[in-house]
Amino acid sequence: MSEIHHCRQCGTCCRKGGPALHVQDGHLLTEGVLQLQDLVTFRAGELVRDTYKNVVVPLPDEIVKIAAPAGSRPDDWTCRFLMEDNRCFIHEKSPAECKALFCDDPKALLGMHGKERLDRKAILELLRAPQWLIDAVEAHEARCNYAALTELVSHLEEDEAARKALVEVVEYDRAFRELVAEKGKVSKDMLDFLFGRPLMYTVIMFGIDARANADGSITLVQTTKATLKR
Ligand code: SF4
Repeated sequence: MSEIHHCRQCGTCCRKGGPALHVQDGHLLTEGVLQLQDLVTFRAGELVRDTYKNVVVPLPDEIVKIAAPAGSRPDDWTCRFLMEDNRCFIHEKSPAECKALFCDDPKALLGMHGKERLDRKAILELLRAPQWLIDAVEAHEARCNYAALTELVSHLEEDEAARKALVEVVEYDRAFRELVAEKGKVSKDMLDFLFGRPLMYTVIMFGIDARANADGSITLVQTTKATLKR
């Protein structure tokens, strides 16, 4: 007997986070259904919650997802296309993961896990972005990658140089975003796609609270250990 999959349109899936994009979603970008400001990148090594296993794990590879509405709380992952009545604003053109997902039987969605994902470079090339922007993404990743940050964090307790280096990377991340927005005339709404979420917010994953000072510098406070300030 064939199974009948019937979505109850409760909106729960969409509130757990927007879909990651796959190669087959490319046309949604070229057709303008999805704009770069609708997207957020989770970079390789970033700690994320695996909602099916309910554990926090570092991402093996970057993923690009549909973001929450602008101005949402940091812990609100609701897809920005979910409407108040639980309908999808782009239902006819929703991404492949949304079409595959049925919450009572997630096999089809789990089968897509890690396969043929669209990353930032592929998206920028698809949209024929200028080469300087692709180079900027690569330069930022080289300086601010999570593998290097994780290594620095592992030496914070005993190594003053590691503490200084970590503050420098967080400051670099902030300054780099401002520079690209200002000099490159890139909308600030696109920065979370281009460079992932700001390190000012994501260092909390390492148990570190980042605070901006009035003079423009940044103080990092390890929530359980010493203050990290240059
Ligand atoms: S695109 Fe539509 S179906 Fe997919 S998560 Fe967002 S609101 Fe839900």
